[in-house]
Formats: sequence, structure tokens, C-alpha cells
Amino acid sequence: MNFQYWQPQIEKMPRSELEALQLHKLKEEIGFALRTSFYQSRLEAAGIRNPDDIKTVDDLRRIPFTTKSDLREGFPYGFLSIPKEEVVRLHASSGTTGIPTTIYFSRDDIKRWSTYMARCIFGSGCTKNDVFQNMIGYGLFTGGLGLHQGGEEVGMMVIPAGSGNTARQFKLMQDFGTTVVHATPSFLLHIESKMKEAGVRRENLSLKRAFAGAEPYSEDTRRRIESLLNIDVFNSYGLSEMNGPGVAFECQCKNGMHIWEDGYIAEIIDPKTFEPVKDGEVGELVLTILCREATPILRYRTRDLTGFFTEPCPCGRTHRRLRRITGRSDDMLIINGVNVFPSQIEEVIMGMKEVGNNYLIVVEKEGALDRLTVKTEVGPNIFMDDARPLNALKERIRETLQASISISPRVELHESGSMPVSEGKAVRVQDTRPKDV
Ligand code: ADP
Ligand code: ZN
Repeated sequence: MNFQYWQPQIEKMPRSELEALQLHKLKEEIGFALRTSFYQSRLEAAGIRNPDDIKTVDDLRRIPFTTKSDLREGFPYGFLSIPKEEVVRLHASSGTTGIPTTIYFSRDDIKRWSTYMARCIFGSGCTKNDVFQNMIGYGLFTGGLGLHQGGEEVGMMVIPAGSGNTARQFKLMQDFGTTVVHATPSFLLHIESKMKEAGVRRENLSLKRAFAGAEPYSEDTRRRIESLLNIDVFNSYGLSEMNGPGVAFECQCKNGMHIWEDGYIAEIIDPKTFEPVKDGEVGELVLTILCREATPILRYRTRDLTGFFTEPCPCGRTHRRLRRITGRSDDMLIINGVNVFPSQIEEVIMGMKEVGNNYLIVVEKEGALDRLTVKTEVGPNIFMDDARPLNALKERIRETLQASISISPRVELHESGSMPVSEGKAVRVQDTRPKDV
């Protein structure tokens, strides 16, 4: 494979140099944090009064974790470290799990973010000759502008399409010869299921690659998108607290996402004991940003579950790779006492070729018990008026799920392309059980 690097010196920097650079940037970031009202007292309580009190990267562990509720408590300016007139932009998280949190950027912060994004995009094999259709939400959500700026930095022609409206997306792809798109994996599946209806033929499109992120998806879903659309799909990870996309991204090897370690310090902890897990094990990702002056955030508990690959990547980048994120530690469902992650269900159903591109997991109370229903579309070649094969398929889905999650779900089948699709992140779980208070 012909690998290409946006910043080869940094991307392939020997680990010892990279770690020295991390320490240097951590001290700088601690300096920014000491100027915020939130961290000043926190750092002082941890015995850190100036950046030189940090001697090694491990000293970071003296600082308590920062949580989403800390960010809300600090709203609106508790985490701001520069004068307000130096701020050029703000973004907010999409608020999947509650009130959104706000992040501020200086002009240099935006430049740095664009550079990290350019590393990701160029590292996937794109060049200035590509036409990039960004099919994700613009606005406060970081996915739109994040990839947009990176695409411009690489020199691609960027089409700020935004999310939704499949007919217009197809038109743009055909009119301008789009070669690369960015979307949620669920929107990519949706677009594919609408192609026939829209009278669009794959051979008339120039698509080669897609960046897919913002929500968890399985390896089976990636393979499904790749084979249906005949493209390469690259996993893209980020969160607004850490700028947004551009934190970790797959290279041409498509086997784990390189996290830019000169911009982020990643720890993986056991979410119960808060101790680091053994190298390579899965746990909760904790991130410290090293590339933003306006809003420093130290040891942020992302709730995202992942681990590191331990072997070096064949591409030669020295920045470590994260495994696919299987979900958040707080999206585990407890169904009649059994722990189930939505990702386990997705893995089973997306691996079955008769199953279509969209699904929903419903959990409700039925009397004293919890009831799990899996609603899923069938593939385009399956007819809804032929009951026998449908019942056989239902039974097979039920049995396969039971073998994997130890719960026997009710299975509902729906016609291809008939289930609702959300414009932003897919809503995969509907839990209507009354919450304990
Ligand atoms: P919110 O936390 O409100 O959803 P964000 O828009 O910042 O706000 O979303 C970031 C979150 O999206 C991450 O913490 C993670 O849970 C999820 N996410 C982003 N990219 C991926 C990905 N490639 N795989 C799995 N989950 C992802
Ligand atoms: Zn690589």
C-alpha cells in the first residue's frame, strides 16, 4: 500500500520523542487550566500551582477526573482560559445524554483542529483532487464544520451538504462527481436503501470512500456499507469536549483508529475502580486535550468503551490505535437482570444478509417483567406478503439473538426503507420503562 502522511515528522515520530512532546504540551495545557476558575482550585488542591509542578506525564494522575456534570456546573465560562475577545467560535455537544456543554475556541485552536482533521483525511488516501460531500449536521454540532475545515486544508472541493434530504444528496453526488462522503453509518445505510427508488445507479456515481462516525457501529455494519456501496469506510471518532472529530481516525489499514497523541493523552480505566486497565484491555476512555488554549479539559471521562491495539500499525504511524467503540458505559441495558449492550444486538442482526439497513431496540415493562422487542427492516429482495419465509426469518433472528444475549426477544419485521431515520445520531434504543427515582 502507498501510505501518505500530512505531517510525516509528527505522525511517525519515535515514541520517546512523542512522549517528551506530550509532557511539554501537557505543561502548557496545565498553564491554561490554571487560568480557569474551575481548575484553579482543583489543581491547587492537588498540589499543582504552576506547570513546573508536573514532572512526568504520569503526574497527570494526581488530578481528579472531569465529568460531564462538572462541565455543566462550569457553564457558561468556568472553563474559559482566555479573554472573551480572543474567542472566535463556540460549539456544543449534541446532548445525547442531557443538557449540552459548551466549548470555546481561539483562532489558533481552530487552526490546530483543522490540521488534526487534515492528518485524518489525507491519511485515508484522499488528496486535493477529491470532491468531498459532507453529509452531516452543521451548526453547533462539531461534525459538520470539523470535517469541512479539514477537507479545505487538504485542498479538496468541499460540498457543505449537511444531513438529510437523500434526493438532494444524490443530485449533488451526480452533478459534482463526489468521490468521498462523511455521514453517520446509519445515514449511509439509509442512503443506500433509497438509491433504487431515486433511480440512481451506483455505476453513475464516482464514490470511493466514506468517513463514518458520531455513533457506534459494528464491523459487520462497516462491511455491509462497503459491499453495498462498493467503497472504503473509515471509522472516525471524536467528541465535542475534545474539539469534535479529529481525535482518532483510521488510516488506510482500516484496523483501529490512530489517536493523535501530540494532541490528546488517552487513559483507559476500569469504570468501577477507576484504576488503569492492563495494556490492550477494554475499559472507559479518559482524555486530556493538549491542543486547545481557550477551553482546557483534563482527564475527561468520555464514558466510551474501548481499548488500545498493542501491536504497531503497518502504516508506520507511531500514535497508538483505539479499538472500535462498542458503546458508552452508561448505555448498557439491564433487561430482567441481564446486562445487554445495544452493540451486541447490532452485531447479530447486521451480520444476517436477509436483514435490512435499519433497526430499533424497544424495551418496555409488561407487568412486572421487562420485555425486549427488536424491530428491523428486511432486505429489499424480501416480500412482505409471503408469510412462511418471514416467519422462518423471525425465528432465526430470535434464536441467534438468544444465543448471543441470553434473552429471547420479540422480533418485528418491517419493509425495506420503511422505518424512520433520524437526521443526526441514530436513535437505536427506545426504553419506555419507568425510571427508578
Ligand atoms: P454527545 O456526547 O452529546 O453525543 P457529541 O456530539 O460530542 O455529543 O458526541 C460524541 C460521542 O459520540 C462520543 O463520546 C461517542 O459516544 C460517540 N461517537 C463519536 N464517534 C464515534 C465512533 N466512531 N464510534 C462510536 N461512537 C462514536
Ligand atoms: Zn495506521
